[in-house]
Amino acid sequence: MRSLLITNIGELTTHSDEGTRTDAAMIVTDRVEWIGPATSPHAADEIFDAQGAAVLPGFVDSHAHLVFAGDRAAEFAARMAGEPYTGGGIRTTMAATRAASDADLRSNVARLVDEMRRQGTTTVEIKSGYGLNVPDEARSLRLASEFTTETTFLGAHVVPPDVPRDSYVELVTGPMLRACAPHAKWVDVFCERGAFDVDEARTVLAAGMAEGLLPRIHANQLTEGDGVRLAVELGAASADHCTHLSAGDVAALADSQTVATLLPGAEFSTRSPYPDARRLLDAGATVALATDCNPGSSYTSSMPFCIALAVRDMRMTPAEAIWAATAGGARALRRSDVGHLGIGAYADLMVLDAPSSVHLAYRPGVPLVKEVLHKGVWVR
Ligand SMILES: [Zn+2]
Repeated sequence: MRSLLITNIGELTTHSDEGTRTDAAMIVTDRVEWIGPATSPHAADEIFDAQGAAVLPGFVDSHAHLVFAGDRAAEFAARMAGEPYTGGGIRTTMAATRAASDADLRSNVARLVDEMRRQGTTTVEIKSGYGLNVPDEARSLRLASEFTTETTFLGAHVVPPDVPRDSYVELVTGPMLRACAPHAKWVDVFCERGAFDVDEARTVLAAGMAEGLLPRIHANQLTEGDGVRLAVELGAASADHCTHLSAGDVAALADSQTVATLLPGAEFSTRSPYPDARRLLDAGATVALATDCNPGSSYTSSMPFCIALAVRDMRMTPAEAIWAATAGGARALRRSDVGHLGIGAYADLMVLDAPSSVHLAYRPGVPLVKEVLHKGVWVR
């Protein structure tokens, strides 16, 4: 494979033993091969002059719901006019998704993945969860797997209106799971009042694990509950949302390998209180940031936007937020080959139109991601 020298890097953030360097250079193929000072002699097939710009790992968006049709702009407008968010709109998207053709669903995923890439995301997790029957959940995961290896079976998103509750859990843990497992790496459940209680969630995740899927969980988004403790009990890679946590939840996360994945786009778009990232970090928990991109509660594909929210409203430092959006996301997906730029990692990175990564939070809403490299290939 051809080698690429990226030189005159003003600030190189690696999240590895290589540290954060100034006036740096790196040589990559599909992986990171060498890192050193810009002044040292080096040769490669191609040269890219970063002209003093900041370079950092590509974002790892570890939580996104991209397989859907339609949008819910009217619901958003109503919410901003004072109506509360309940999660019931998921059924609106379910109907649109079931009615859509494969081609329409695929082109919507492609549009969103491209939108993410242009904003620096090089790894994305994609969930099912808007089909809510056997053929449409399996179809959602087949389509998702065309775009990423990080596919998540979320048949237990909500109970669809056309199936009784008990028989839906049986469906999700039986025929639906068997149809979906071949296309999925992860199993997930929306553990929340109005969705699935903790016993149902345990049943869903245990069934998925028995089929070889790895657990993750939507936990403690709208209310305090037992979701986070279930995630820790099962050794889940991630407990996602973590907005309403007891002191026991925070301690349990800090003592575990389970990442607390915070999704501030959801609180922004539902005008809700943000999770307390500072409390989690000070306790020693591992924190990730992700978009939760979905048409109802968080229709943003922008990791820089989430970083800006986390810094401004969740008391994270810029460095902590950027780590959470890259290395933290990789931890939440149990990946060691992305989210950092150590030697041997995938050459997934972005070049900013700024001299330091702090600008991602300091200049919110500004399109600072200038170039994106994915596995050694320029994709923007
Ligand atoms: Zn979600």
